[in-house]
Amino acid sequence: MRIVMIGSGYVGLVSGACLADFGHDVVCVDKDAAKIEKLRGGGIPIYEPGLEQLVASNVAAGRLSFETDLSAPVAGADVVFIGVGTPARRGDGHADLSYVHAAAKEIAQALSGFTVIVTKSTVPVGTGDEVERIVREANPDADFAVASNPEFLREGAAIEDFKRPDRIVVGIEDERARAPMEAVYRPLYLNRSPILFTSRRTSELIKYAANAFLAMKITFINEIADLCEKVGADVQDVSRGIGLDNRIGPKFLHAGPGYGGSCFPKDTSALAKTAQDFESPLRLIEATIAINDTRKRAMARKVIAALDGDVRGKRIAVLGLTFKPNTDDMREAPSLSIVQALTDAGARISAYDPEGMELAKPMLPDIDYAASPYAAAEGAAALVIVTEWDAFRALDLKRLKASMASPVLVDLRNVYREEETEAAGFRHVGIGRGTAT
Ligand code: NAD
Repeated sequence: MRIVMIGSGYVGLVSGACLADFGHDVVCVDKDAAKIEKLRGGGIPIYEPGLEQLVASNVAAGRLSFETDLSAPVAGADVVFIGVGTPARRGDGHADLSYVHAAAKEIAQALSGFTVIVTKSTVPVGTGDEVERIVREANPDADFAVASNPEFLREGAAIEDFKRPDRIVVGIEDERARAPMEAVYRPLYLNRSPILFTSRRTSELIKYAANAFLAMKITFINEIADLCEKVGADVQDVSRGIGLDNRIGPKFLHAGPGYGGSCFPKDTSALAKTAQDFESPLRLIEATIAINDTRKRAMARKVIAALDGDVRGKRIAVLGLTFKPNTDDMREAPSLSIVQALTDAGARISAYDPEGMELAKPMLPDIDYAASPYAAAEGAAALVIVTEWDAFRALDLKRLKASMASPVLVDLRNVYREEETEAAGFRHVGIGRGTAT
């Protein structure tokens, strides 16, 4: 199949490279000329494990190339994916569809022969109808079908997720889109990944319902963690105790500082707005959003409480800035609110992150960036683990303690056991680990 991917960000680039690896001919297009130039020079604009080798081998095999102009690739394509951003719209929390609509208009002008246009971006219910309308208006003679194929990959494990998905969801209204979409994903039949064909609106809603459910599950365990602290219970044991029930499952039951990232915050918000517009409010999701919003600053208060209520003039080391490990993505990272709240309270921050510091610097310009966890901890009154990078799992606690002003560890990801850190001389504050009173 000849495939074009419009948008070469976290989703477009990974999807494009994986589709090329399946044997398709793929052109990844992006408006950002610097990104395309970097890709053409063998560089990778984002951090994603394994992506550099995957891109390099498929470029070398002649199956993957990069363009800033979509005209020629779209004219020769069987399937054109739209993988551009759909951030939250300023002001009202709806999804901003301006990039999707602009891409649809451009694609329309370039179409030649029957082509399937597929929204891979996360888009609200009804967007496929609108894309169809835009393309038809811009090019009344075009022969095309619009499908929905939401992406479920996770940053940090994106290649594995794309190549071995739990399921592939495809929404179509025009039967002519079925065969090309089956051909795109045929290589995955070997992995027995189920492909689920639905109506286009259903497919669009599946993506939001999935993300909202996961955000709700995280928020549920976070609230249970707060209760654990009050009643003297251990949230990790509660998670295990409920997660072993097959109806519940163990994933997304790790209590922490609240969800962040480029998807859950904007997608829960967009879904709640859609539901309100259709007078079918999703109160569970509205509550999830509200609980998560307050949680991040509450984590800063936890740090302040660990330092006896006063952090003014004190140095605090923050380990981990990205919203989760194995990515450089800083969008809506909990660290942003936590660092801001600590700075507001008068603390001075030294931060370290294995991959996120470059993108963090413009977002958190007034803090110090250290070259290692140990350098961040020097002179600090407390060490706060915000993101559970592997590199933070086996820190030399004695070495840390020796260089800190006071040995306080606030472990917002429950990476360490209290016995372990206390044996090294730390005062330990975790999440949801209550002690009986
Ligand atoms: P991103 O911001 O990393 O990438 C989007 C890219 O699209 C940018 O490089 C931008 O320059 C480019 N672009 C915008 N308009 C364009 C146009 N008209 N022509 C060509 N290029 C254009 O975004 P992302 O994280 O890859 O997300 C893309 C979509 O996928 C979103 O809808 C998101 O919700 C969804 N999604 C993201 C993830 C994730 O983990 N990041 C997972 C599943 C779904």
